[in-house]
Amino acid sequence: AKARGRDRSERFDEEMRAEAMRLLDLEADLRRAIQRDAFEPHFQPIVRLADGVVVGHEALLRWKHELHGALPPSEFLRVCEDSGLIEQVDWLLYQRVVAWMGRHLEGYVSINVSPRHFHADDFAERLLRIIGDARVDPHRLRIEITEGALLDDAPRAARILNTLRAEGVLALLDDFGTGFSALSYLHRFPIQALKIDQSFIAGLSGETHAESLALVRAILALAGTLGIDTIGEGVETEHQRQLLTGLGCAYGQGYLFGRPVAQVEGRAPKARPAAV
Ligand code: C2E
Ligand code: CA
Ligand code: CA
Ligand code: CA
Repeated sequence: AKARGRDRSERFDEEMRAEAMRLLDLEADLRRAIQRDAFEPHFQPIVRLADGVVVGHEALLRWKHELHGALPPSEFLRVCEDSGLIEQVDWLLYQRVVAWMGRHLEGYVSINVSPRHFHADDFAERLLRIIGDARVDPHRLRIEITEGALLDDAPRAARILNTLRAEGVLALLDDFGTGFSALSYLHRFPIQALKIDQSFIAGLSGETHAESLALVRAILALAGTLGIDTIGEGVETEHQRQLLTGLGCAYGQGYLFGRPVAQVEGRAPKARPAAV
């Protein structure tokens, strides 16, 4: 038994070492990628549910990896955040987003902001500076933050959001419903829209239907009372679109309307069926 115990702990050590090496590797890889500016935004449309008109896009981080192609954040965001590299990565990405906005003049673009990053001393000033340098209308940029980022230091978060809003940059509350959802705090922040987390939208189909429907309804009622817009995330089916529309959710985002893609060339005219 003793020998087996040691085997097990040796194996455990080995696994730990392998995991540590993998993370170190990834971190070194990330540092090189920052040097090469190897990150690019993919853009996913946000539409008005009633008629499908594209009102904006969310910019989503992709790492153009030499070996693995365009990597989504699930592969590396955790390491980015733990190592503090996320700030550098995000600023490189925001530069690209803002440059893209200068060429494509329709709708707004929302960018994701990590909580720690949001609370960095010069976040608002720096963001406003890159918008100004690129001569982009600040009203076309929105930031997506999570409830955690607000509640970390509420007075400070409110100051940052107010500074940005004064210049035209509005805030969307991401993944709404998954955090504390302490509803009482919401009115203290200038929030333009709640993004209803995709888990609730997915839940609208299948066994969790009744529960999810009740939750989505409650979120929509709350938003309505506070005069906040709503965006349903992860809309994949026509059924979900219809449910959301029926419940009064004005906007949506998801594979049903379009996947994140490397570039959106203006608004591509939809092929019209020939008139008969
Ligand atoms: P998020 O902000 O909640 O972004 C939505 C995620 O859902 C994206 O994953 C998007 O590709 C995916 N998605 C969109 N429509 C659908 C759908 O219909 N079905 C399903 N199953 N998924 C859908 P992605 O691009 O892998 O990003 C994951 C997360 O990484 C984001 O979640 C966000 O928290 C973070 N992230 C993305 N870009 C950035 C960035 O530039 N900076 C920072 N700090 N974080 C980012
Ligand atoms: Ca987001
Ligand atoms: Ca989200
Ligand atoms: Ca998320």
